[in-house]
Amino acid sequence: MSAPVSDALDLTEAERTRVLAKSALFDPPSLELPDGRRDIVGLSREELAAEVAAIGEPAFRVKQIWHWVYHQGVTDFDRMSSIARPLQRKLAERFVIGRPDIVLAQTSEDETRKFLFRFRDGQEAETVYIPDREEDRGAVCISSQVGCTLSCRFCHTGTQTLVRNLGSAEIVGQFMAARDAYGEWPSPKGETPRLLSTIVLMGMGEPLYNYANVAKAMRIVMDHEGIGLSRRRITLSTSGVVPMMDRCGAELGVNLAVSLHAVRDDLRDELVPLNRKYPIAELMAACRRYPGASNARRITFEYVMLRGINDSEAEARELVRLIAGLPAKVNLIPFNPWPGSRYEPSTRTTVERFAKLVNDAGFSAPVRTPRGRDILAACGQLRTESRRERRVPVLPGTEGP
Ligand code: SAH
Ligand code: SF4
Repeated sequence: MSAPVSDALDLTEAERTRVLAKSALFDPPSLELPDGRRDIVGLSREELAAEVAAIGEPAFRVKQIWHWVYHQGVTDFDRMSSIARPLQRKLAERFVIGRPDIVLAQTSEDETRKFLFRFRDGQEAETVYIPDREEDRGAVCISSQVGCTLSCRFCHTGTQTLVRNLGSAEIVGQFMAARDAYGEWPSPKGETPRLLSTIVLMGMGEPLYNYANVAKAMRIVMDHEGIGLSRRRITLSTSGVVPMMDRCGAELGVNLAVSLHAVRDDLRDELVPLNRKYPIAELMAACRRYPGASNARRITFEYVMLRGINDSEAEARELVRLIAGLPAKVNLIPFNPWPGSRYEPSTRTTVERFAKLVNDAGFSAPVRTPRGRDILAACGQLRTESRRERRVPVLPGTEGP
């Protein structure tokens, strides 16, 4: 006999509590600098309001500061021209408007630009700007963790252990530093930036295993009086943390991308080991529950094409069967090899045949051209390469070379 529905809901809630508690163990160091100042970036609006009240300033200052930090992108209190000098000084004594340091910035022939950012404790993460020439805009691919607890077989980040979660300041900071690099803040005339107006949470790490910080960062990014991206311009990619998918849909309502990569549990167990915990049937049920999925806002299924592993015609047909009835599209990603990886990309003909089968069934199935091959764009690779070049000593608890 199956458990009553309310029991099932309690179980999911218990599972969510467990996931959140575990993820809190990997939280970043505090926002406070050695000199006692705090970073304004990454504070929620409520937290900023509390800070402003604590220094005896009226509530309308919150709106002003928020506007300068997140709409204008200033990094210096001196430039907040609507705020009188004495208050500018008072703020500068207590706060900084932080950005991660740029360790590396490489631009590929196809204009993909990859950044390696370093945070205050020396940890590093990758951010990629992917231009969309047709649309004159582009996406910023943001990391959510340093390393990853999951170890998907084809993923380079999966070879690194999880060092820690990124905090909300570090998540928003990647986007803001990328905008700095492109001079993409509103001009004094108020023109809105277009180049960097989309976020994909598809960099290093599993965003739903760092939900609290990711959610806080996305709320900051979506706030109308600041960066003001709509939830339609944000896509969160998950390897399938089922209980947190529901929470993400209910609270953030951003677009969802699901890293499927296999249509049978035996193969997915191997490629995406999280499947052993949340198998395909549960994952697909969570996709069907995901709010707001419609033809205008389809769920994206990512499918990395591995030669001879998951690229047969039978698998294309099974994929179509799995997503039948869902507003969905499929991104076919040619496998991006990295030194030591055990797979090869599928041949062009195989990818095209696979795409045609999915297409003929009525689903858009674009083949994502690999971007920035010449700059090691396989996720997680830049960080490893950079550490190797600088011969960073391997500390206990961090990954090996
Ligand atoms: N952890 C999340 C988001 C980061 S990975 C997730 O797994 O969805 C972002 C996407 O890149 C995922 O679909 C992942 O499967 C894919 N990916 C990872 N390594 C890859 C590689 N070497 N080649 C092609 N795609 C890869
Ligand atoms: Fe982690 Fe995503 Fe890489 Fe899997 S594919 S190891 S979940 S970053």
